[in-house]
Amino acid sequence: MRILKIQTLRGPNYWSIRRHKLIVMRLDLENLAQTPSNEIPGFYEGLVEALPSLEGHYCSPGCRGGFLMRVKEGTMMGHIVEHVALELQELAGMHVGFGRTRETATPGIFQVVIEYLNEEAGRYAGRAAVRLCQSIVDRGRYPKAELEQDILDLKDLWRESSLGPSTEAIVKEAELRGIPWTQLSARFLIQLGYGVNQKRMQATMTNKTGILGVELACDKEATKRILAAAGAPVPKGTVINFLDDLEEAIEYVGGYPIVIKPSDGNHGRGITIDIRNWDEAEAAYEAARAISRSIIVERYYVGRDHRVLVIDGKVVAVAERVPAHVVGNGRSTISELIAETNKDPNRGEGHDKVLTKIELDRNSYQLLERQSYTINSVPPKGAICYLRATANLSTGGIAIDRTDEIHPENVWLAQRIVKIIGLDIAGLDIVTTDISRPLREMDGVVVEVNAAPGFRMHVAPSQGTPRNVAGAVLDMLFTNEQSSLIPILSVTGTNGKTTTTRLLAHIYKQTGKVVGYTTTDGTYIGDYLVESGDNTGPQSAHVILEDPTVEVAVLETARGGILRSGLGFANANVGVVLNVAADHLGIGDIDTIEQLANLKGVVAEAVFPDGYAVLNADDHRVAAMAEKTKANVAYFTMNPDSELVRKHVQKGGVAAVYENGYLSIVKGDWTHRIERAENIPLTMSGRAPFMIANALAASLAAFVQNVTIEQIRAGLKTFRASVSQTPGRMNLFNLGKYHALVDYAHNPASYQALGSFVRNWTTGECIGVVGGPGDRRDEDFVTLGKLSAEIFDYIIVKEDDDSRGRSRGSAADLIARGINQVNPNCRYESILDETAAINKALDMAPDNSLVVILPESVSRAIKLIKVRGLVKEEVQQQ
Ligand code: ATP
Ligand code: ATP
Ligand code: MG
Ligand code: MG
Repeated sequence: MRILKIQTLRGPNYWSIRRHKLIVMRLDLENLAQTPSNEIPGFYEGLVEALPSLEGHYCSPGCRGGFLMRVKEGTMMGHIVEHVALELQELAGMHVGFGRTRETATPGIFQVVIEYLNEEAGRYAGRAAVRLCQSIVDRGRYPKAELEQDILDLKDLWRESSLGPSTEAIVKEAELRGIPWTQLSARFLIQLGYGVNQKRMQATMTNKTGILGVELACDKEATKRILAAAGAPVPKGTVINFLDDLEEAIEYVGGYPIVIKPSDGNHGRGITIDIRNWDEAEAAYEAARAISRSIIVERYYVGRDHRVLVIDGKVVAVAERVPAHVVGNGRSTISELIAETNKDPNRGEGHDKVLTKIELDRNSYQLLERQSYTINSVPPKGAICYLRATANLSTGGIAIDRTDEIHPENVWLAQRIVKIIGLDIAGLDIVTTDISRPLREMDGVVVEVNAAPGFRMHVAPSQGTPRNVAGAVLDMLFTNEQSSLIPILSVTGTNGKTTTTRLLAHIYKQTGKVVGYTTTDGTYIGDYLVESGDNTGPQSAHVILEDPTVEVAVLETARGGILRSGLGFANANVGVVLNVAADHLGIGDIDTIEQLANLKGVVAEAVFPDGYAVLNADDHRVAAMAEKTKANVAYFTMNPDSELVRKHVQKGGVAAVYENGYLSIVKGDWTHRIERAENIPLTMSGRAPFMIANALAASLAAFVQNVTIEQIRAGLKTFRASVSQTPGRMNLFNLGKYHALVDYAHNPASYQALGSFVRNWTTGECIGVVGGPGDRRDEDFVTLGKLSAEIFDYIIVKEDDDSRGRSRGSAADLIARGINQVNPNCRYESILDETAAINKALDMAPDNSLVVILPESVSRAIKLIKVRGLVKEEVQQQ
């Protein structure tokens, strides 16, 4: 077995609209191509021994053990690799369920599709599955140690990629709500939503969190002063910078017990509480000094530690934090009990799990001593032995939810305090003996206000109800799912994508909105180019969707990108499918036009149910996509008598129709005429039918997004596809006595489209300069010849400079064969050199004729034309 290629999909794709995270492995079974599993001696037994948990895979029999049954009866190795890859991820704690295996058109080569949670882990699992199966084929077994290592590696990949617990909670909630999120490439920034509607977060700070509030909260002394001035209960205390001042400070706070802490520490670092004598105070001072210059000396308040979380002015959760401790069982020593507690899989290092492992520090031994224990004591059964003085989760503490117990007056106080400090998300540390009674009565205090408070104690408390605090954050940032998004209009088809995308963007600009769009020529925002290049894949889509200035996204969505990585977004508001014609067949395991239609259909299927699939009613493969999409359907047609469209509008549907020389929107009984085709420059005075079709599609896509007829009209009339904007797309030049047209039509459907224009345009003679890239199939050249014979009066056959491996002259011969098949009397000649061929055509052009050039190099062809005294570029004219 050999892996030929591994691709990572990240959006709606050919295999699934709903499952966005898939690995596609192209697998050559080599010598196993003819051997189902039942014919490999010992394979079934070896597999069951290596991975007994495969028993849980139902597979097609639909019951436990179903998949193993298939292995026993005989199934192909690709299918087994799929299940093993899924199971390996499962064993590493990643729950994935989706897989598919298909044989490609090349016998023995399979596509194995598996779901992943983490990309790298998914690819690893694919490779490991192949290794595992190969080993069982070769040796009858897969070593246990290897499997354990695989699972450890997978767990590592999973952990390394995981976000912090607070961020994790927020993005999970965002996913549930259909709010898209991405991790930006720096500073752990998370972006939620798209375009102008996006919001940003970093841990639990939002782009609304004010810097003044954060800085104030980080300065514990300043916070206390402001709160004290407002009459809020804060610990009595003072700040010192020298050890010499410690004695006086202790006296000022009323003597022992006291607390000493750094003035700008966090996570309990450098803080000592319940200090009862001078020696302890001195040591505590040194410990705090290691963190901060200024040292806070405070009265120690007896009570339990609470964290009150306030989001958007409201208390959303309250947790009591209990310091790290163990409970005696009458047999084990304290150090054994700690080791036992730390075995809890929920305890990790730092903040990566729900809880943190218990570690002892300087204070722990003091604390043990006060409880008359040492690390080797055996506490009696049920006795609680505290190991840390402060209750921070990061020092091994646990959390108990108390949200339902807090007294309303404390709620009011907490909310008021957070307003005073000026934070949108804050965590208050409150020490009181009973949170269900007013602080005032209990002599409770607000010890600190935290900016960027952690969520894990609320989301996953050790006891009590988990609280959806991430939901409160999203409620604050977005009024609803829609308010996080911007309209996305995605355009696909075999021909006309770039033209339609540009036109649609231009029409949308008439609304005054900032439109971001991607095309084969580049990525644009408003009137400016962001980046040139073939930008029709998901990465370019992301540039637009992540841009904070963009209000509307119009995305050319080409087959290559969908196939390689899936769509760059989960849902579009409008998905336009222009046409499906034979092109690029045989590439990427898309071998038939039906498969190509399924691939392009992804654009129609990934539309929101309340959005629109804009479909070409005149192309039966496109029209059939109406069956698959959950969205509303809108049709465009060049045929005013289209039965399909007539029925559709009768049922209240909307359509764009070319009728009586007009581009019109038809809805119910009404026909809204937008404009005469003649007056739309793109349609070449109404003579290029395929451009009329593109214009209908763009108009309809805009219309279903509530762009007005007036705005659509204005857009259609002012859009000009000039050479500078769209080189090689129907560039027509007036050379005085005759015209020349340069177009980069590159498949039979586009030659045909071109032909329909040529016949409409001129009554004079028509000369074609034709040829195509050498890597096309033989039959494509013959087709080109046939079509040329139908379109042109005189044909000059040329070849590309780069013959792409084809022998010189052979493409021209194939074209000539096609010409002869259609019209043995057709006048033609072969001039293989493109420059010479173009020059010959221009030299011989009679008056009123049209020279149509399908060049390899568009810029060279245009240069050759321009030196002949260009009168004007025709498309500039109306
Ligand atoms: P974190 O960042 O995790 O909130 P921190 O390092 O900022 O911790 P504080 O919140 O000031 O430190 O104190 C940590 C804990 O110590 C408090 O939650 C509280 O349990 C206890 N504590 C601090 N000051 C006092 C005090 N004056 N009286 C009683 N307990 C206190
Ligand atoms: P690519 O796949 O190269 O990105 P595209 O789909 O973006 O192509 P355009 O760049 O808009 O297509 O047009 C390329 C050529 O296809 C045009 O010059 C024209 O010859 C032809 N064409 C444009 N629209 C259509 C159409 N609706 N039907 C058939 N052919 C068309
Ligand atoms: Mg604190
Ligand atoms: Mg294009």
